[in-house]
This record gives sequence, C-alpha cells and structure tokens, in this order.
Amino acid sequence: MWDKEKKKHIGDHEVKPESLMMSYGYTPEWSEGAAKPPIFQTSTFVFESAEAGKAFFEVAYGLREKKPAETPGLIYSRLNNPGLEITEDRLTVWDGAEAAAVFESGMAAISTTVLTFLRPNDVVVFPEPIYGGTEYLFHEVLPQFGIEAVCLPATEGVKGLERVLAEGDRRKRLRMIFVETPANPTNALMDIEACVAIARASGDGERRVLVAVDNTFLGPLFQHPLNLGADLVLYSLTKYVGGHSDLIAGGCLGSAELVDQVKVTRTIFGTMAGPWTSWLLLRSLETLKLRMTSQMKNARYVADYLLDHSKVERVHYLGHLQEGDPQFEIYRKQCVGSGAMISFEVRGGEAEAFRLLNALKLIKLAVSLGGTESLAEHPGTMTHADVPPEDQLRMGITPALVRISVGIEHPDDLIADLEQALENV
Ligand SMILES: *Cc1c(COP(=O)(O)O)cnc(C)c1O
Repeated sequence: MWDKEKKKHIGDHEVKPESLMMSYGYTPEWSEGAAKPPIFQTSTFVFESAEAGKAFFEVAYGLREKKPAETPGLIYSRLNNPGLEITEDRLTVWDGAEAAAVFESGMAAISTTVLTFLRPNDVVVFPEPIYGGTEYLFHEVLPQFGIEAVCLPATEGVKGLERVLAEGDRRKRLRMIFVETPANPTNALMDIEACVAIARASGDGERRVLVAVDNTFLGPLFQHPLNLGADLVLYSLTKYVGGHSDLIAGGCLGSAELVDQVKVTRTIFGTMAGPWTSWLLLRSLETLKLRMTSQMKNARYVADYLLDHSKVERVHYLGHLQEGDPQFEIYRKQCVGSGAMISFEVRGGEAEAFRLLNALKLIKLAVSLGGTESLAEHPGTMTHADVPPEDQLRMGITPALVRISVGIEHPDDLIADLEQALENV
C-alpha cells in the first residue's frame, strides 16, 4: 500500500500536479524497478492461496467490510487491473478528486454513470447544445427506461433551468442536472455553482440531486467543477487528456462514495478501459500541461487573427469575452483559462464554409478535438448533423459556422494556412 498524501508532499512542500504526472500512483519496486509502469496485459490474476482468493471475493462482492490495512486484491481485469488503477489515481490529481473510474470511451463513462444513478420516473435536465452521443442517450435511450430527460437552451442559463423545473412535478422527481460547459460548438457557458444551488434546493435527505459536469473542453487544467460543488466530473479522455488522436477513453471523477457505485455498474456493463488504453493515457498525462498550455496560447493568436479578418463574421472564443457580458462573469468565476476551441462564422453560408475547409493544407478536416494537431470541421453537417435545422439556429449553429480545435503547431503556420484558405471564401 502506498501513501497517497505522502506522495503529494516533499516535507511540508506540496508538489504541483504537473510534477506528479510522472510518478503518482506507481512505485518502481512493484515492477522490477521499471521507471514506467509495464502494461499488465492479462485477463486474470493468480491467487497465492485459495484463502487469499476467498478474501479477495469477499471484499469485491461486499460480503464483508474491508479490514483497515487490506487492499482490494486483483481478481480479473473487468473488475480491476494495475494499469487501470494507476491511471485512475493519477487522473484524480488535477481535479482534486477523491476517486476516478476510467472507461473505454467517453460515452461509456457517461452512459454507465447516468444509468448508475437514474431510475424510472426520475428527471434529468440538461442544457443544449450537448455532445451528440449524450443527446441521443438522453432523448432516445433514457425514455425507454422511464426516465424523463428535459433539455433547455444553454443560452437561457439557470433561468431556463428554473423554467423547465417549474413544470408539473419535475422538481420533485429531479435526480440529476447534467451540464456540458463550455458547450460544443458555441462555447456557451453554464454557471456550475448556480446549478449546484438549484440541485441542493431541489433535493432532500431521501433524494440527493446530483450535478454532473462534462468537463471535456476545458478540463482538467482550466476548469475544476468539483471545487465549485459539482458531484461528478465526466470526460471524453479521447480529447485533451489522450491528446494525440490515437485512443478512445473516458472518465468519471468524484467522491469515493459515488465513484465506487459507478465502478460496480462498470464491472457489470463491462465498460472499463483495457490495459493498453490505460497505459497510453499514462503516457499522455505526462505532457498534458505542456500540450494544453501550448494549445491555449496558439488559440489566442488564431482567434485574434480571425476576429480581424474581413471574411469572418463572428468568432466564438472564451478569450474574447468582455467585461459586462454575463458570460464573462461566469467565465471569471469558473474557468482558469480559455482553452483551445474556437468556432467562427465565415461571411456567407455552407458553400463558403466548405470552400474554406476544402482549402486547408495544414489543419486537418476531421471531427474530434484536443489532439496535438489542429482539426477543423463543419458542425452543422458533421458533429451536429442530427440536430434539426431550426434547433441548430436556436443554438447558434449556422451554416457558416466552422469549428477549430487548435493544436501545438507554430501559430504562424496555422494563421498562414487560414489566410490562404480564407482567400477561397
Ligand atoms: C467526444 C466527446 C464525448 C464522447 O466521448 P468518446 O470518447 O468519443 O466516447 C462526450 N462529450 C464531449 C464533450 C465530447 O467532446
């Protein structure tokens, strides 16, 4: 057993998260002195004795309480794997979470978490736009289990939340507020603390209302929902945390009490991340701060360039929010950086946006985001294609809108690429 708190200190000095990314959660003595954790490519684990196996199962199945110094034994990789556990411990650091569960995709994390806590007749409310997979889960899948999923436009903010909760007996049945902030692709912000206040006011001793935040766009560096009172933080680790566009993974972070419940469902759904994915995530976490800070800096150059361009109608970028804008007040309260997601409207419509996308030479035309390379896409016909046109417009997704995930290239090169591509508009 290693001492989690001791690992975070040198004497009284508290070690910063970026320094912990090369070691936290792993001790070389476990693996022949290997500086990096090996990939534990095994489905099952050999017990030292039948008695040890029995004890492991007693703890895993909750047949008895764990003894004070007892650690859960390794049984089978659907329940746990050393690589998975190291990744989870390390992932808790940036968000200051007590526990984390890592999954084979962001959607596995979201669906497993939601189905852990929601029951028939419960209500979940969520602002839109929201990630397409989450939207499908809420609108199409949850109702089949008798769960009412209620959406509101993110632009209405907490007023919209109050509005939809005032209808019928929804407030009494409310079980979860699920927010993705900033929203994709418009960067609309939702006030996390205000959502928490509504959740606390709506629940009671019997019925705890959970606030779950999809923190994929800014986290884990630039937004820390647990510190703002949220109960659960969700990630597509495919994006910034994975960061190299070479893996699919997801995460759920929060108190040990809640995450342990999620892990029970995960064991039964079989949605845990495998050894290879876990190992790739450890590799990625080492450079997370370097990548995200470089991407954020680049995004500012690119956004400023776009703002001044005559063929660009509008730029949605958190770093451009101005004093006096209610969105800026939320930004100042809950974000510590503006991230690297930009969307902008070219003058014209879909044809002009397509001409720009087709002319890009360095920036790749692809969905997904958060990787080392810059990616551009057309939300209206790609990531948000299944949102009806009138809803798209209500959310600010116009035919002229292009989304860019800014990578770690030299900003001059990104601007040169956009410059020549904009000539085609
Ligand atoms: C990509 C994404 C997801 C889904 O994650 P996968 O890893 O693709 O399953 C969920 N939420 C947001 C905000 C995303 O960008």
